[in-house]
Amino acid sequence: MTEQATSKVAMDKIVSLCRRRGFIFPSSEIYGGLSSCWDYGPLGVELKRNVREAWWRMMVQERDDMVGIETSILMHPQVWVASGHVKAFHDPLVECKCCHVRWRGDEIQTAACPTCGGELTAPQQFNLMFKTFMGPVEDHASVTYLRPETAQGMFVNFENVVNTTRRRLPFGIAQMGKSFRNEITTGNFIFRSREFEQMEIEYFVKPGTEQKWFEYWLEERFNWYVRLGIKKEHLKLREHCKEELAHYARGCFDVNYLFPMGWAELEGIASRGDYDLKQHSTCSGKGLDYLDEETKERYVPYVIEPSAGVDRSVLAFLCDAYDEDIAEGEQRVVLRFHPLLAPVKVAILPLSKKEHLAALTKEVYADLRKSIVVQYDDTQSIGRRYRRQDEIGTPFCVTVDFQSLEDKTVTIRERDRMDQIRVPIAELKKTLQAKLSGEDFLVLPPGGKFWKTAEITEKQSVKGA
Ligand code: ATP
Repeated sequence: MTEQATSKVAMDKIVSLCRRRGFIFPSSEIYGGLSSCWDYGPLGVELKRNVREAWWRMMVQERDDMVGIETSILMHPQVWVASGHVKAFHDPLVECKCCHVRWRGDEIQTAACPTCGGELTAPQQFNLMFKTFMGPVEDHASVTYLRPETAQGMFVNFENVVNTTRRRLPFGIAQMGKSFRNEITTGNFIFRSREFEQMEIEYFVKPGTEQKWFEYWLEERFNWYVRLGIKKEHLKLREHCKEELAHYARGCFDVNYLFPMGWAELEGIASRGDYDLKQHSTCSGKGLDYLDEETKERYVPYVIEPSAGVDRSVLAFLCDAYDEDIAEGEQRVVLRFHPLLAPVKVAILPLSKKEHLAALTKEVYADLRKSIVVQYDDTQSIGRRYRRQDEIGTPFCVTVDFQSLEDKTVTIRERDRMDQIRVPIAELKKTLQAKLSGEDFLVLPPGGKFWKTAEITEKQSVKGA
């Protein structure tokens, strides 16, 4: 590893902020929690929805070459035989003969148990899929699996989508949803859990054009994080070496982020060839080839798959947004979220609780909440209220003060610069909407262009770098 950079925030600060302000709680907490499962609280659910929404908008709705679907979590068990998951979705498991703690064999560096120093068993292959049963009888015939990825839902619907939308190559199918993996080791907060959410694209291309599209998607996905405010120096593309490639992959890069525990995978982008469509075609007996109307050729398309995690993205956006600075002589914690991601966009604050001030503030609030996610807060001093909003990443605070009663103007305070402008109430909604559209916050590299693969790739042959 050549990389010396370290994250500027410790994980325990993120975990405690999330707990304290209602972003993320341990699952079933009153029963002592359930290891590696998490519940999103009132602010967390808004943040997570905004991440999904930004992905769906930019990857599906703003493009001509993409359609979305939503497939079921339970699929025909043969899907997982065809995809190779029943045979090959394994991690090496070692167990301590002394304390019986289990570890992922490829993640521990020592020959002895990291907990007690005891002797470890030889690695056994452990299948990561959760098995379950369909129907009331728990027999072999009714065994199925909770999906370990959403991708297979796109492959088995390839023909349905082509026939119903008359799409021509290249085009992609996208979906987001829950996936489940019985991970041997979990941890680092929401980074690795057994139930998580993915945002995946299967982008189908003509064989022979896959390298061009692979590079296109590396840039497109890397820049998605940059556009939403993640600092470029906290991201890199890492190429998988041959031994690391999954059974289906011809090439794979990870988008790695500098998490508090070090560089780790945020998203995987794989060139999967025609493996999946061919496998499903063979196992189902249904031809899944494509008629190229221009050349009249029939072929099985190749696939590029950008596969991102919602929860890992949420964690990366939280870590990157976290900052501490001095405001009005006091230390403050601030989440510098891009406005598209901020759970609350605008806080509406009366300067005091005086009745006539409250009435005008509530009028402003009632009008804005129809089109903007706003929060009303009239408790404690105005300074304390600004701090509370900074800590949850609210980009703007609107304050109604005594001057507002006289001239029908209010102030807008900006979270990062902490400056204030005064605007007429009549123009407030339009002004806020323009600010929230994100132009003020759009992070562009020098020269105004986005990053090219050559500038963001670091070739490495060591797993986990
Ligand atoms: P890792 O090597 O970290 O286990 P992976 O290479 O197995 O990840 P993929 O199969 O490429 O992961 O899944 C695509 C994305 O789904 C990952 O980049 C990650 O964002 C997310 N993801 C995968 N497993 C988990 C998990 N256990 N918890 C949270 N997110 C996950």
